[in-house]
Amino acid sequence: MEKKLQNQVAIITGASSGIGAGVAKSLAASGATVVINHPVAATKAPADEVLNEVIAAGGQGITYQCDVSKESEVVTMFADVVKQFGTVDILVNNAGLQRDAPFDQMTLEQWNFVIGVNLTGQFLCAREAIKEYLRRGVDLTRSKAAGKIIHMSSVHEVIPWAGHANYAASKGGIMLMMKSIAQEYAHKKIRINSICPGAIQTPINRQAWDTPEAMDALLTLIPYKRIGQPEDIGNAAVWLASDDSDYVNGISLFVDGGMTLYPGFTTNG
Ligand code: NAD
Repeated sequence: MEKKLQNQVAIITGASSGIGAGVAKSLAASGATVVINHPVAATKAPADEVLNEVIAAGGQGITYQCDVSKESEVVTMFADVVKQFGTVDILVNNAGLQRDAPFDQMTLEQWNFVIGVNLTGQFLCAREAIKEYLRRGVDLTRSKAAGKIIHMSSVHEVIPWAGHANYAASKGGIMLMMKSIAQEYAHKKIRINSICPGAIQTPINRQAWDTPEAMDALLTLIPYKRIGQPEDIGNAAVWLASDDSDYVNGISLFVDGGMTLYPGFTTNG
């Protein structure tokens, strides 16, 4: 495979499982040195497994524990990575979670927890990445851009989701944060975009695919009639991180098998 991200350093948050692990493997296969972020001591072992797979495939990287909702931990993570590798070129703001409840029963704790990780966590990491990109500027031996940020949003930045208002609000918030900072820093040659996955087979949505009945119900929502895999998102992330997408800035790239095509209308003509 052509190494389109050679000499570049990528931080992928929440990379010990699911989409983040898939993105870390894809970026590493394209030549990036990957920082496999995970939140707590208990996620170190799965993060190490992802790193082992990266190394076995000929790639390189480290694991790094940091809770992205904690400002001091995020600041320290970026400082440590810059100290170790000289700079950061790519941030994949992927860490995210759900705490679902009917809206009238949703606790403030459930609301704040989801917003804290999914939205505030992406703000904190993006801010530190932009500071580093502004400090370094463009280095053409690395990339045409001074740096790239990829936010992991969701089809739920546009599809309302009953019973998941905190999650959908976090993803809707990511959309306008992403577009605002893409507008703000484009003249500094910083490219900022989002990937909006549809249904990807990961631990976050296990109940949606772990029985044949659940999978059948899920597939009624997906015109392309298959569930997505982390590699589908990894491929999109490589493109958005590479100079192949150098003129792409401020977009929400839907990678969803057509989930946003109003599948209920397919046979409704
Ligand atoms: P996942 O549960 O496998 O991954 C989420 C990761 O985030 C985990 O590794 C977890 O340890 C990490 N994390 C949680 N809190 C963290 C914190 N405070 N600091 C650092 N890391 C933390 O699920 P996934 O499906 O891989 O989700 C990844 C991202 O993709 C999320 O932002 C999710 O909203 C988004 N997404 C997933 C789907 C899907 O169908 N799977 C669809 C749309 C969007």
